[in-house]
Amino acid sequence: MVNKETDITKIKREAGEALKKAALSEEAKSYLLNNPVLFNLLLKAAKRYIGGETLEEALVTRKFLREEGLLTSLEFMGENVTTVEEANEATQEFLRIIKALKVENKPDRVSLDLSHIGLFLDKEKGIENFRLLAKASENSPIDLFISAEGVDKTDEILDVYCMFSKEFSHVNITLQVYLHRADQDLQQILQNSRGKVRLVKGAFEGSKEVLLPRGSQLDDRYIEMMKILFKTGRYCSIATHDAELLSRILTIIDQQQIDREKYEFEMLYGIGTDLLRDLKKQGHLSRQYIVYGKEWYLYLCNRIAENPENVFLAISDIMKGDCNFAEVN
Ligand SMILES: Cc1cc2nc3c(=O)[nH]c(=O)nc-3n(C[C@H](O)[C@H](O)[C@H](O)COP(=O)(O)OP(=O)(O)OC[C@H]3O[C@@H](n4cnc5c(N)ncnc54)[C@H](O)[C@@H]3O)c2cc1C
Repeated sequence: MVNKETDITKIKREAGEALKKAALSEEAKSYLLNNPVLFNLLLKAAKRYIGGETLEEALVTRKFLREEGLLTSLEFMGENVTTVEEANEATQEFLRIIKALKVENKPDRVSLDLSHIGLFLDKEKGIENFRLLAKASENSPIDLFISAEGVDKTDEILDVYCMFSKEFSHVNITLQVYLHRADQDLQQILQNSRGKVRLVKGAFEGSKEVLLPRGSQLDDRYIEMMKILFKTGRYCSIATHDAELLSRILTIIDQQQIDREKYEFEMLYGIGTDLLRDLKKQGHLSRQYIVYGKEWYLYLCNRIAENPENVFLAISDIMKGDCNFAEVN
């Protein structure tokens, strides 16, 4: 019988680890996705976290959120891109997003992994593809946000970002606070770039030698890095769903009377949406990060693994009648 808090925490951690393993198992993935019944059940659970399987569906989800007064960010998600052709196809899809958003001509955001457009397959091609996106969104109200990936990729991503930042003022970067190198990364980009900075705790697995686990030390570092951004006047996207951390952040914003145009709150679609709605009601710029695409299996497993109680939500979503993408949250 489980009756101690510590036992529950252990079970949740183990369940999270098991889900992360399942996410990476090609065998499990292929079995689940090739079985039409299982596929449809999983898709129902995925609808909580993804804006759609196609751009058109994601644009509908985005429209509903924007009608509520939330800002949005769109990402076409993809798993491992293994050929330059796939990277080029992904780039074409990102160009489609930019084209669709430009029609509205309102402030908007596109986020992406540089690996998705080929940077780590063929560096020159990846840079060429990113240039296409930067040019297509230049002189428009759309900003481009580069995501943070595994720590083995951090140097190259920051170098490419700093290079583009010199040329394009609408190119921005994500920093993972959990990396021990995060302070130096922040200094590097403060000195060598001019874009906005999104602070995330960090999602990738890694050893204690390279990263800090979740906990008060990480939260303190998050606050310190945010304060540096505030002090230097650099725009900061506060990208966390952590209610306790957010409450500390709100106190600082209030005490230091930070200009509301210099920061925003950004959360992943399907997580913390009500929290984000509250922040919006309090007058803070608040943004939903919407991902879409057919490669949602890994994304779904990761969102559940981060918070194993989400298994219950998934079961409840599966048992409900079918619905459209935008209707879940
Ligand atoms: C806009 C945005 C962009 C991001 N981009 C990147 C990136 O480029 N690279 C990268 O490595 N990571 C990225 N992330 C993910 C990030 O690193 C964290 O893994 C993720 O945000 C969870 O961390 P947290 O700050 O919410 O805090 P945590 O300490 O992980 O969680 C705090 C609390 O938030 C809630 N919560 C967190 N996750 C979930 C969930 N899945 N379901 C339900 N509740 C949850 C729970 O209440 C939890 O107790 C991004 C996150 C956001 C919001």
